[in-house]
Amino acid sequence: EEALLEVQDLKVHFGGKKLFKKSMIVHAVDGVSFSVPKGKTLGIVGESGSGKTTTALAVLRLVPITAGNVRLDDMEVSSLEKDDLRKSRRRFQMIFQDPYSSLDPRQRVGEIVREPLDLMDIGEESERDQMVRDLFVQVGLRPELTNLFPHQFSGGQRQRVGLARALSTKPDLIVCDEPVSALDVAVQAQILNLMRKLQEDLGLTYLFISHDLGVVQHLCDHVAVMYLGQIVEQADRISLFKNPQHPYTKALLSAVPKARARDGSEERIRLRGDPPSPINLPKGCRFAGRCPVALDKCHSEEPPLVDRGDGHLASCHLLD
Ligand code: SF4
Repeated sequence: EEALLEVQDLKVHFGGKKLFKKSMIVHAVDGVSFSVPKGKTLGIVGESGSGKTTTALAVLRLVPITAGNVRLDDMEVSSLEKDDLRKSRRRFQMIFQDPYSSLDPRQRVGEIVREPLDLMDIGEESERDQMVRDLFVQVGLRPELTNLFPHQFSGGQRQRVGLARALSTKPDLIVCDEPVSALDVAVQAQILNLMRKLQEDLGLTYLFISHDLGVVQHLCDHVAVMYLGQIVEQADRISLFKNPQHPYTKALLSAVPKARARDGSEERIRLRGDPPSPINLPKGCRFAGRCPVALDKCHSEEPPLVDRGDGHLASCHLLD
Protein backbone atom coordinates (compact mmCIF):
# COMPACT_ATOMS: atom_id res chain seq x y z
CA GLU A 1 0.00 0.00 0.00
CA GLU A 2 1.20 3.47 -0.84
CA ALA A 3 2.02 5.53 2.25
CA LEU A 4 0.49 8.99 2.40
CA LEU A 5 2.29 9.84 5.62
CA GLU A 6 5.73 8.50 6.38
CA VAL A 7 7.61 9.28 9.57
CA GLN A 8 11.20 8.13 10.00
CA ASP A 9 13.17 8.14 13.23
CA LEU A 10 11.41 11.24 14.51
CA LYS A 11 12.90 12.92 17.56
CA VAL A 12 11.55 15.85 19.51
CA HIS A 13 13.76 16.91 22.40
CA PHE A 14 12.98 19.96 24.48
CA GLY A 15 15.08 22.04 26.78
CA GLY A 16 18.78 21.80 27.16
CA LYS A 17 18.66 24.34 29.99
CA LYS A 18 21.25 23.96 32.68
CA LEU A 19 19.92 22.73 35.97
CA PHE A 20 22.31 21.98 38.82
CA LYS A 21 25.10 22.28 36.25
CA LYS A 22 23.59 19.42 34.27
CA SER A 23 21.89 19.99 30.95
CA MET A 24 18.24 18.99 31.16
CA ILE A 25 16.77 17.52 28.01
CA VAL A 26 13.24 16.15 27.74
CA HIS A 27 13.16 13.24 25.31
CA ALA A 28 9.50 13.72 24.42
CA VAL A 29 9.69 11.72 21.19
CA ASP A 30 12.74 9.54 20.84
CA GLY A 31 13.10 7.78 17.51
CA VAL A 32 9.62 7.03 16.22
CA SER A 33 8.90 5.56 12.76
CA PHE A 34 5.59 4.70 11.14
CA SER A 35 3.68 5.09 7.92
CA VAL A 36 -0.01 5.52 7.18
CA PRO A 37 -1.42 4.32 3.84
CA LYS A 38 -3.73 6.65 1.95
CA GLY A 39 -7.33 6.39 3.13
CA LYS A 40 -6.41 4.51 6.32
CA THR A 41 -6.17 5.29 10.01
CA LEU A 42 -3.23 4.79 12.33
CA GLY A 43 -4.02 4.96 16.04
CA ILE A 44 -1.27 6.08 18.40
CA VAL A 45 -2.04 5.01 21.94
CA GLY A 46 -0.32 5.75 25.22
CA GLU A 47 -0.64 7.35 28.63
CA SER A 48 -0.06 11.05 29.14
CA GLY A 49 3.67 11.66 28.86
CA SER A 50 4.11 8.90 26.27
CA GLY A 51 4.87 11.43 23.54
CA LYS A 52 1.82 10.65 21.43
CA THR A 53 0.54 14.23 21.25
CA THR A 54 4.02 15.64 20.69
CA THR A 55 4.39 13.18 17.80
CA ALA A 56 1.17 14.52 16.29
CA LEU A 57 2.24 18.13 16.75
CA ALA A 58 5.63 17.39 15.17
CA VAL A 59 3.96 15.81 12.12
CA LEU A 60 2.06 19.09 11.71
CA ARG A 61 5.26 21.08 12.37
CA LEU A 62 3.61 22.74 15.35
CA VAL A 63 6.62 21.87 17.53
CA PRO A 64 10.23 21.92 16.32
CA ILE A 65 11.58 18.60 15.02
CA THR A 66 14.95 17.71 16.55
CA ALA A 67 15.77 14.94 14.07
CA GLY A 68 14.17 12.60 11.58
CA ASN A 69 11.90 12.91 8.56
CA VAL A 70 8.21 13.53 7.99
CA ARG A 71 6.87 13.10 4.47
CA LEU A 72 3.29 13.74 3.37
CA ASP A 73 2.73 12.31 -0.11
CA ASP A 74 5.35 14.05 -2.29
CA MET A 75 6.19 16.72 0.28
CA GLU A 76 9.09 16.64 2.75
CA VAL A 77 7.23 18.28 5.62
CA SER A 78 10.21 18.23 7.97
CA SER A 79 12.34 20.42 5.71
CA LEU A 80 9.74 22.95 4.51
CA GLU A 81 10.67 26.60 4.96
CA LYS A 82 8.21 29.01 6.54
CA ASP A 83 6.46 30.21 3.36
CA ASP A 84 6.07 26.76 1.86
CA LEU A 85 4.91 25.43 5.19
CA ARG A 86 2.17 28.05 5.32
CA LYS A 87 1.07 27.22 1.78
CA SER A 88 1.03 23.51 2.53
CA ARG A 89 -1.11 23.93 5.65
CA ARG A 90 -4.34 23.23 3.80
CA ARG A 91 -3.20 19.66 3.17
CA PHE A 92 -3.10 18.70 6.83
CA GLN A 93 -5.60 19.68 9.47
CA MET A 94 -6.19 18.87 13.10
CA ILE A 95 -9.14 18.28 15.39
CA PHE A 96 -8.80 18.51 19.14
CA GLN A 97 -10.11 16.82 22.26
CA ASP A 98 -12.12 19.75 23.48
CA PRO A 99 -13.60 21.55 20.53
CA TYR A 100 -14.92 24.17 22.94
CA SER A 101 -11.49 25.43 23.89
CA SER A 102 -10.33 25.35 20.26
CA LEU A 103 -13.34 27.34 18.98
CA ASP A 104 -13.40 31.10 19.58
CA PRO A 105 -16.48 31.72 21.80
CA ARG A 106 -17.13 35.16 20.25
CA GLN A 107 -17.21 33.90 16.70
CA ARG A 108 -20.34 32.49 15.07
CA VAL A 109 -19.79 28.87 14.10
CA GLY A 110 -20.29 29.68 10.42
CA GLU A 111 -17.43 32.17 10.61
CA ILE A 112 -15.29 29.62 12.42
CA VAL A 113 -15.73 27.16 9.56
CA ARG A 114 -15.28 29.87 6.95
CA GLU A 115 -12.07 31.28 8.40
CA PRO A 116 -9.65 28.81 6.75
CA LEU A 117 -11.33 29.45 3.39
CA ASP A 118 -10.68 33.18 3.75
CA LEU A 119 -7.17 32.77 5.14
CA MET A 120 -6.08 30.38 2.43
CA ASP A 121 -8.13 31.99 -0.30
CA ILE A 122 -10.06 28.86 -1.21
CA GLY A 123 -12.97 29.17 -3.68
CA GLU A 124 -14.61 32.42 -4.85
CA GLU A 125 -15.45 34.79 -2.03
CA SER A 126 -19.10 34.90 -3.07
CA GLU A 127 -19.34 31.12 -2.89
CA ARG A 128 -17.82 30.66 0.54
CA ASP A 129 -21.02 30.99 2.56
CA GLN A 130 -22.55 28.25 0.47
CA MET A 131 -19.41 26.14 0.90
CA VAL A 132 -19.82 26.53 4.67
CA ARG A 133 -23.47 25.43 4.51
CA ASP A 134 -22.45 22.39 2.43
CA LEU A 135 -19.79 21.52 5.01
CA PHE A 136 -22.41 21.73 7.75
CA VAL A 137 -24.60 19.25 5.89
CA GLN A 138 -21.61 16.98 5.33
CA VAL A 139 -20.99 16.68 9.08
CA GLY A 140 -24.67 16.25 9.92
CA LEU A 141 -25.52 19.77 11.08
CA ARG A 142 -28.45 21.81 9.76
CA PRO A 143 -27.11 24.63 7.57
CA GLU A 144 -29.28 27.25 9.29
CA LEU A 145 -27.20 26.78 12.47
CA THR A 146 -24.27 28.77 11.04
CA ASN A 147 -25.41 31.91 12.89
CA LEU A 148 -25.16 30.43 16.36
CA PHE A 149 -22.27 30.64 18.80
CA PRO A 150 -20.25 27.64 20.09
CA HIS A 151 -21.85 27.73 23.56
CA GLN A 152 -25.24 27.07 21.98
CA PHE A 153 -24.02 23.64 20.81
CA SER A 154 -23.61 20.34 22.61
CA GLY A 155 -20.16 18.72 22.87
CA GLY A 156 -20.91 16.38 19.98
CA GLN A 157 -22.17 19.22 17.78
CA ARG A 158 -19.09 21.24 18.57
CA GLN A 159 -16.90 18.36 17.46
CA ARG A 160 -18.91 18.33 14.21
CA VAL A 161 -18.10 22.03 13.80
CA GLY A 162 -14.43 21.22 14.42
CA LEU A 163 -14.63 18.54 11.73
CA ALA A 164 -16.34 20.91 9.27
CA ARG A 165 -13.58 23.45 9.82
CA ALA A 166 -10.91 20.79 9.31
CA LEU A 167 -12.62 19.57 6.12
CA SER A 168 -12.97 23.07 4.68
CA THR A 169 -9.51 23.03 3.10
CA LYS A 170 -9.98 19.55 1.59
CA PRO A 171 -7.03 18.10 3.50
CA ASP A 172 -5.28 14.79 2.73
CA LEU A 173 -4.51 14.11 6.38
CA ILE A 174 -6.45 14.90 9.54
CA VAL A 175 -4.63 14.54 12.83
CA CYS A 176 -7.16 13.83 15.57
CA ASP A 177 -6.02 14.39 19.14
CA GLU A 178 -8.37 12.55 21.52
CA PRO A 179 -11.34 13.68 19.39
CA VAL A 180 -14.01 11.85 21.39
CA SER A 181 -12.48 11.64 24.89
CA ALA A 182 -14.54 14.52 26.24
CA LEU A 183 -17.84 13.07 24.96
CA ASP A 184 -20.13 10.52 26.55
CA VAL A 185 -20.20 7.04 25.09
CA ALA A 186 -23.30 7.34 22.89
CA VAL A 187 -22.04 10.56 21.34
CA GLN A 188 -18.56 9.06 20.91
CA ALA A 189 -20.05 6.36 18.71
CA GLN A 190 -21.88 8.95 16.57
CA ILE A 191 -18.73 10.98 15.99
CA LEU A 192 -16.62 7.89 15.24
CA ASN A 193 -19.25 6.69 12.75
CA LEU A 194 -19.29 10.11 11.11
CA MET A 195 -15.49 10.09 10.89
CA ARG A 196 -15.55 6.68 9.25
CA LYS A 197 -18.19 7.76 6.75
CA LEU A 198 -16.24 10.91 5.86
CA GLN A 199 -13.14 8.76 5.40
CA GLU A 200 -14.97 6.47 2.99
CA ASP A 201 -16.57 9.33 1.05
CA LEU A 202 -13.53 11.59 0.84
CA GLY A 203 -10.59 9.17 1.01
CA LEU A 204 -9.25 10.85 4.14
CA THR A 205 -6.24 9.60 6.04
CA TYR A 206 -6.32 9.89 9.83
CA LEU A 207 -3.68 9.92 12.51
CA PHE A 208 -5.73 9.19 15.61
CA ILE A 209 -4.22 9.95 19.02
CA SER A 210 -5.85 8.43 22.09
CA HIS A 211 -5.15 7.13 25.57
CA ASP A 212 -8.02 4.67 25.12
CA LEU A 213 -7.50 1.40 23.24
CA GLY A 214 -11.24 0.81 23.40
CA VAL A 215 -11.89 3.87 21.23
CA VAL A 216 -9.05 3.12 18.82
CA GLN A 217 -10.54 -0.30 18.18
CA HIS A 218 -13.51 1.24 16.36
CA LEU A 219 -11.73 3.31 13.77
CA CYS A 220 -8.09 2.34 13.30
CA ASP A 221 -6.58 -0.01 10.73
CA HIS A 222 -3.18 -0.02 12.44
CA VAL A 223 -2.22 0.75 16.01
CA ALA A 224 1.07 1.93 17.52
CA VAL A 225 1.52 1.82 21.28
CA MET A 226 3.87 4.44 22.71
CA TYR A 227 5.71 4.46 26.01
CA LEU A 228 8.10 7.18 27.13
CA GLY A 229 8.77 8.60 23.70
CA GLN A 230 9.06 5.32 21.81
CA ILE A 231 6.83 2.87 19.99
CA VAL A 232 6.90 -0.42 21.92
CA GLU A 233 4.41 -2.31 19.76
CA GLN A 234 2.86 -1.74 16.35
CA ALA A 235 0.55 -3.97 14.33
CA ASP A 236 -2.63 -4.10 12.33
CA ARG A 237 -5.68 -3.71 14.53
CA ILE A 238 -6.79 -7.34 14.53
CA SER A 239 -3.35 -8.69 15.30
CA LEU A 240 -2.78 -6.16 18.07
CA PHE A 241 -6.07 -6.84 19.82
CA LYS A 242 -6.06 -10.61 19.34
CA ASN A 243 -2.42 -11.24 19.94
CA PRO A 244 -0.76 -8.45 21.95
CA GLN A 245 2.95 -9.11 22.50
CA HIS A 246 4.34 -6.40 24.75
CA PRO A 247 3.61 -6.50 28.50
CA TYR A 248 2.63 -2.82 28.38
CA THR A 249 0.10 -3.38 25.60
CA LYS A 250 -1.30 -6.35 27.53
CA ALA A 251 -1.76 -4.14 30.58
CA LEU A 252 -3.48 -1.42 28.54
CA LEU A 253 -5.74 -3.97 26.88
CA SER A 254 -6.67 -5.54 30.16
CA ALA A 255 -8.16 -2.19 31.15
CA VAL A 256 -10.64 -2.33 28.24
CA PRO A 257 -13.63 -4.22 29.65
CA LYS A 258 -14.83 -5.64 26.31
CA ALA A 259 -11.41 -6.88 25.27
CA ARG A 260 -11.07 -8.56 28.65
CA ALA A 261 -14.40 -10.32 28.31
CA ARG A 262 -13.53 -11.60 24.84
CA ASP A 263 -10.39 -13.48 25.74
CA GLY A 264 -12.05 -15.03 28.76
CA SER A 265 -10.23 -15.32 32.02
CA GLU A 266 -7.74 -12.46 31.77
CA GLU A 267 -7.61 -10.33 34.86
CA ARG A 268 -7.01 -6.65 34.77
CA ILE A 269 -3.26 -6.05 35.00
CA ARG A 270 -2.53 -3.16 37.31
CA LEU A 271 0.72 -1.34 36.69
CA ARG A 272 2.80 -0.04 39.55
CA GLY A 273 3.51 3.67 39.70
CA ASP A 274 3.79 6.24 36.94
CA PRO A 275 6.04 6.33 33.91
CA PRO A 276 9.51 7.63 34.82
CA SER A 277 10.51 11.14 33.83
CA PRO A 278 11.53 11.66 30.20
CA ILE A 279 14.40 13.75 31.54
CA ASN A 280 16.30 11.03 33.38
CA LEU A 281 15.61 8.03 31.22
CA PRO A 282 16.21 4.65 32.83
CA LYS A 283 18.85 2.36 31.38
CA GLY A 284 17.66 -0.74 29.58
CA CYS A 285 13.95 -1.17 28.86
CA ARG A 286 12.09 2.04 29.63
CA PHE A 287 9.19 0.01 30.98
CA ALA A 288 11.30 -2.13 33.34
CA GLY A 289 10.40 -0.24 36.52
CA ARG A 290 6.71 -1.04 36.04
CA CYS A 291 6.83 -4.29 34.13
CA PRO A 292 5.26 -7.23 36.00
CA VAL A 293 7.50 -9.77 34.19
CA ALA A 294 10.85 -7.94 34.01
CA LEU A 295 14.07 -9.94 33.79
CA ASP A 296 17.47 -8.93 35.14
CA LYS A 297 18.78 -7.88 31.77
CA CYS A 298 15.77 -5.59 31.24
CA HIS A 299 17.43 -3.10 33.59
CA SER A 300 20.62 -2.89 31.55
CA GLU A 301 19.88 -3.73 27.91
CA GLU A 302 17.45 -1.85 25.74
CA PRO A 303 15.19 -4.24 23.77
CA PRO A 304 15.04 -3.45 20.02
CA LEU A 305 11.75 -3.07 18.16
CA VAL A 306 11.64 -6.25 16.06
CA ASP A 307 9.19 -7.78 13.59
CA ARG A 308 7.60 -10.76 15.36
CA GLY A 309 5.92 -11.97 12.16
CA ASP A 310 3.65 -10.41 9.52
CA GLY A 311 4.77 -6.88 10.35
CA HIS A 312 3.74 -7.14 14.01
CA LEU A 313 6.49 -5.18 15.77
CA ALA A 314 7.28 -5.34 19.48
CA SER A 315 10.27 -4.49 21.69
CA CYS A 316 10.66 -6.88 24.61
CA HIS A 317 13.43 -9.26 25.74
CA LEU A 318 10.86 -11.89 26.69
CA LEU A 319 9.96 -12.33 23.03
CA ASP A 320 13.52 -13.08 21.87
FE1 SF4 B 1 9.20 -6.07 30.59
FE2 SF4 B 1 11.73 -6.68 30.09
FE3 SF4 B 1 9.95 -6.83 28.15
FE4 SF4 B 1 10.74 -4.47 29.09
S1 SF4 B 1 11.99 -5.95 28.00
S2 SF4 B 1 8.67 -5.09 28.65
S3 SF4 B 1 10.97 -4.94 31.25
S4 SF4 B 1 10.01 -8.08 30.02
